[in-house]
Amino acid sequence: MKVTFGQISAGGTHYSLKDTGWFPVEEFSLRQLHHAEIDLLKKNNDTVVLEGEMLASVEFLCDRCGEPFDYTLLVDFQYLFKTGEDVSLQLQDMECSEDDYDTVYLDEPVIDIGEVLREQALLAVPVRKICDDGCKGLCPECGVVLAHETCRCSPGRPDSPFAVLKKLKNH
Ligand SMILES: [Zn+2]
Ligand SMILES: [Zn+2]
Repeated sequence: MKVTFGQISAGGTHYSLKDTGWFPVEEFSLRQLHHAEIDLLKKNNDTVVLEGEMLASVEFLCDRCGEPFDYTLLVDFQYLFKTGEDVSLQLQDMECSEDDYDTVYLDEPVIDIGEVLREQALLAVPVRKICDDGCKGLCPECGVVLAHETCRCSPGRPDSPFAVLKKLKNH
């Protein structure tokens, strides 16, 4: 969904996105989009402030055990969109107050709201996706999901973290 600077009304314009065409479904699956809200406010003819919030339930695959699990993506974000030629001058003037904003320079005064949401959804994904802090993952010997069943090979297996600790202590 694209919004030109000219479409933003003087008092600001609010967008509540119901469609999910922007969602990065190729990265992980969306269970439900609870809300995606965007406010656009014109600071001047060349500068627009965007503030938004998104809440969605998604499904990840655990990095340790490979099982699917539910995760809540909750993000709020602020951007400053700038266009025009005196961009560098404005930046010097407002340097301090703009620390909280991601500044985006546009060739044309058009904001792609879907692209902003998509970027935020991707940024909200944790580096390590773990179904549970206590997830034991898979047994490296036989491959069973250790959250669901125990296997005979797990106790005392040579590559367990405890075996490594023992070795270190002995040295
Ligand atoms: Zn897991
Ligand atoms: Zn095993």
